[in-house]
Amino acid sequence: MPKFELPQLPYGYDSLEPFIDEQTMHVHHDKHHQAYVDKFNVALEKYPKLFEKKPGELLKSLSKLPEDIREAVKNHGGGFVNHSFFWPLLKKNVSFSGEISDAINAKFGSLEKFKEEFSKAALNQFGSGWAWLVLSKGKLEIVSTSNQDSPLSQGKIPLLVIDVWEHAYYLKYQNKRADYVSAFFNIINWEQANKNFLEAKKK
Ligand code: MN
Repeated sequence: MPKFELPQLPYGYDSLEPFIDEQTMHVHHDKHHQAYVDKFNVALEKYPKLFEKKPGELLKSLSKLPEDIREAVKNHGGGFVNHSFFWPLLKKNVSFSGEISDAINAKFGSLEKFKEEFSKAALNQFGSGWAWLVLSKGKLEIVSTSNQDSPLSQGKIPLLVIDVWEHAYYLKYQNKRADYVSAFFNIINWEQANKNFLEAKKK
């Protein structure tokens, strides 16, 4: 049975410098993300049929999973899916455009206002977690989740995300999460976010 594999980064490890440093990208992708993939695979070994599912589908219906692996799928499957979703959303020098920019302006008033709200969610997430822009019942919404919880499990469709686990920023920013969050706005791949938005609207 084929197992899930760590996706390669869609760019060089140093290509987000100076906003996210090369060493952090190596540790984050090669060690942390890999560990989620490995533990997710181990969790599913007992129920190999589940390897045929899309991992995001498993997160959407956690309650239907065998109880003995539910927590492991939520944590390690979540870690696998969330990071796989995160990497392509990072890129330097992509301008804020596309239908998603119109939708953000309409919902939040401006990009600046959106950044304020999104930063708040990222900074107020106590401990490890993620801040998201999602489509929820057809509307844009900013939410945060703890640990590796995915909005997919709450019936929401992720569009954009920032990882606010300390492993995402500690080597460069130490305790200064706010500096990392403000750096993040320089490396949002709005083309990818727009793609996610267009896909989400079809659902
Ligand atoms: Mn992470």
